[in-house]
Amino acid sequence: MRIGVGWDSHRFAAGRQLILGGVHLPDAPGLTGHSDADAVAHAVTDAVLGAAALGDIGSHFPPADERWRDADSLELLRHAVSLVHGAGLRVGNVDVTVVCERPKLGPYAPAMCERLGEALGVGAGQVSVKAKTNEGMGWIGRGEGIGAVAVALLLPSTS
Ligand code: MG
Repeated sequence: MRIGVGWDSHRFAAGRQLILGGVHLPDAPGLTGHSDADAVAHAVTDAVLGAAALGDIGSHFPPADERWRDADSLELLRHAVSLVHGAGLRVGNVDVTVVCERPKLGPYAPAMCERLGEALGVGAGQVSVKAKTNEGMGWIGRGEGIGAVAVALLLPSTS
C-alpha cells in the first residue's frame, strides 16, 4: 500500500465559474487559475501522484503550457491515474477536506464523489468529500479563496 497527500488553494475571482470536484456550483464566485481552477481535483491529483512518487501536478501540467488553459481538471486527474496504473498501482480510496466560508458545499459533496470516482476509476463509495469553514480566521475566513487537502491510498493493481 502507498499513501499520498495533496494540498491546493485558489483565490476567488470575478467572471469565473466555480468548479469543485468536477461539479459546477452556480451562484457562487469562481476561482482564478490557469486551468478551470478546480482546487479539489488538484489536491486529489497531487495526492494520487504523491502516493506513487510520480512528481506533482505542476511537473506534469505546467501552468506556462497553453494546452492546460481553462483545462477540465478531471482530465488532468484521469491522466495522473493512468500514470498510476502504468506503475502497477490502482486507487484504493480518497478522502478530501475542502475549507471555505462560502458557498455551502455540503449539498454538492455526493456529486463531487461521483465525478471524482469516475476519474479515479473507483466507485463513489471509495471517495469522501467533507466541507468545513475556517471559523472566520485568516485568508479563508476573509473569503479570499478556497483550500483543499486530500489523502489517497494506492493498492497494487493485482490485489
Ligand atoms: Mg490548483
